[in-house]
Amino acid sequence: MKLDTKALRYLTTEDWRVLTAVEMGSKNHEIVPTPLITQLSGLRGGSGVHKCISTLAKANLIARMKNAKYDGYRLTYGGLDYLALHTHLKRQTLYSTGNCIGVGKESDIYVVASSTGTQYILKIHRLGRISFRSIKNNRDYLKHRSSASWMYMSRLSALKEFAFMKVLKENGFRVPEPVAQSRHTVVMELIDAFPLRQIQEVPNPAGLYAELIDIVLRLASFGLIHGDFNEFNILIREEKTPAVGNPRKAETELPDSKPSITLTPVIIDFPQMVSIDHTNAEMYFDRDINCIKRFFERRFSFVSDEPGPFFADAKKLVGGHNPKRLDVEVEASGFSKKMAKELDKYMKDVGVDGDGSHDGLDYTGEDDSNAPGTSSSEEGSSDKLSQDPRGNDGSDGLFDHSNELEPD
Ligand code: ADP
Ligand code: MG
Repeated sequence: MKLDTKALRYLTTEDWRVLTAVEMGSKNHEIVPTPLITQLSGLRGGSGVHKCISTLAKANLIARMKNAKYDGYRLTYGGLDYLALHTHLKRQTLYSTGNCIGVGKESDIYVVASSTGTQYILKIHRLGRISFRSIKNNRDYLKHRSSASWMYMSRLSALKEFAFMKVLKENGFRVPEPVAQSRHTVVMELIDAFPLRQIQEVPNPAGLYAELIDIVLRLASFGLIHGDFNEFNILIREEKTPAVGNPRKAETELPDSKPSITLTPVIIDFPQMVSIDHTNAEMYFDRDINCIKRFFERRFSFVSDEPGPFFADAKKLVGGHNPKRLDVEVEASGFSKKMAKELDKYMKDVGVDGDGSHDGLDYTGEDDSNAPGTSSSEEGSSDKLSQDPRGNDGSDGLFDHSNELEPD
C-alpha cells in the first residue's frame, strides 16, 4: 500500500477532527453512522462536517459504506496512516518521508527524517492484507473479521514491537533505538547495515554463529524467545577498528596491522516475540536455533561441533545471572497479557509464522524473488537496500520534498 502523503498538507483542522471522529467511532461501529461522526467531531453545523467528510472520502482516508440499516463511513488504512503521521508530526518526531525500503507481508518500511535531518525508520504494521498459507482457515477467519479488527491487530503489533524494543534496549541488547509509536506505526533508529541474508562471506563464521546463539540464550535468560530469528531479521553492522601501529616505529612507517572489520549483529522485528512460558515456547526456541544452523550451513558451510542448545538448557538460564523477567516487564508496560493473547490468536489463525516460513516457502534458498521485502514493492525497492540500506545513492535526492509533512 502506497503511502501517499500529498493530502496531509491541505487538510484543515476541521478535517482532522472529523477523521479523528471516524477513528473514535470505529471502536464500536464497523460502519460509523454519519450523525455519530458529526457528534464525535464536536463541530457545530452539519454542512461543515459534510464538506470535511467529502474531502476525506476523496482522499481515500475514509470510505462510504451503504448498508440496509444506515449510511456511514469507515476508516481506511490510508486514514489510519494519516492519523499516525499527524501524531508523529505534532510530536515532532517526524518531518518528511523518504523511500520505501521494504514491503514485507505484514509491514511497510520507510526511511523518514526529523526536522533536524536525522534519519529514522518508520515501520507501518499492516496485518491482514495478505492471504496466508492455510486458505481455508484464513477464509473462515476473514468472514468473522472486519477491517476494523485488522487495524486493531496492526496497532497491537506495533504496540508490542515498541514495548519489546524498549525493554531490550534498556537491558543492553543490540536493537534499534525505539523513538516513537502511534497507532500501527513505530519510528525507530535506522541501522546502517545489511541483513545477514545479503552477506555472502564472513571472515569468521564460527564466531558470528556463536554470537547469534548467545543472543538467543541471553534472550531466554530474560524470559524471552524472539520467535522469528532468521537472516532477514538480523542486521550485520560493519564496524572498522583502526589499524594498530607500533609506537616505537617512526610515524611515517606503515602500521603493523591492517584496519580490521568487526561484524556486529543488530536484531529487529519483534511482533512474534513470546515468553519462555508460552505454550509453544519450545517449538519457537528450536525454530530460532534451527534457522541459524540451517543458514550457516547453507551459506557459509559451517556446522557447529556442539549439538543444541536445547530448550531445557535455555529454561535453566531463566532467573540465573539476571533475575529480571522482561516478558513480565513488557506486560506491565502497557502491552497486556490479554493483548498478547489476542495477537497470538490472530497470528496462529492466519498462519503468520514470521519471515522464514510464510506460505510454507523456505526463504533460505537462493532465489530471492519471493523473499519478504522484495515482493510487490510499490515505491522504491528493496533492491536499493542491497546497495545502501537507506536506499541512498549518496546524492541528496533521498527526500522528495513534496513529502514534507505539515502539521495543522
Ligand atoms: P517485517 O515484519 O515485514 O519482516 P522487519 O522489521 O523485519 O519487517 O523489516 C523489514 C526489512 O526492513 C528488514 O529486513 C530490514 O532490511 C529493513 N529494516 C527494518 N528495520 C530497520 C532498521 N531499524 N534499520 C535498517 N533497516 C531496517
Ligand atoms: Mg522481518
